[in-house]
Amino acid sequence: MIKPDGVQRNLIGKIISRLEDKGLKLVAIKFLRLTKEQAAEHYREHAGKEFYERLISLITSAPVVAMVWEGKNAVFIVRKLMGATDPAQADAGSIRGLYGMSMGRNIIHGADSVDSARREISIYFRPEELVSYEKTLETWIYEEK
Ligand code: UDP
Repeated sequence: MIKPDGVQRNLIGKIISRLEDKGLKLVAIKFLRLTKEQAAEHYREHAGKEFYERLISLITSAPVVAMVWEGKNAVFIVRKLMGATDPAQADAGSIRGLYGMSMGRNIIHGADSVDSARREISIYFRPEELVSYEKTLETWIYEEK
C-alpha cells in the first residue's frame, strides 16, 4: 500500500515502477481513502501501542493506493524493496531509504507474511477483483515455471 504520505509526495508512479521493474506482477489495484474500521482491522496487531493513534490518524487522513503484487517470494522481495520501517535506517537504495525521513512518514506498507498478506488483501479486495493472467515476459524473469 502506498500510504497517504507517498500519494501526497507524488510517489505513486515511482513506487509502481520499482515493483514492476523488479519483475513482480500487479494483480489488483485500488485508489481509496481508508475508513476507521478498515484502518483498525489493518493495524489490529498494533492496537494499544504508543504510536497507534497517530498511525490510524495518518492512514485515514488522505487517499492511499492498495495493491496486490504476485511473484515468487513476493512478500520477502517487497519487504526488501521497501526497506526498514525507520527510513533513517533503511538501505539507501530502498523505497523508504530513498524517499522517507521519519518512521511516521515511511511512504509504503507491505505485508510481513503470506498470512498477513491474505488477511490484508481481504480488507480491500473481493476475490474477483484479483486478476489472474499470464505475462509473456515471465520466461525472462524466472528460470523455471
Ligand atoms: N510506526 C511508527 N512508530 C513506531 C513503529 C511503527 O510510527 O515506533 C508506524 C510506521 O508507519 C510503520 C507502522 O507503524 O510502518 C507499522 O509498524 P510495523 O512495525 O508493522 O512496520 P512495517 O511492517 O510497516 O515496516
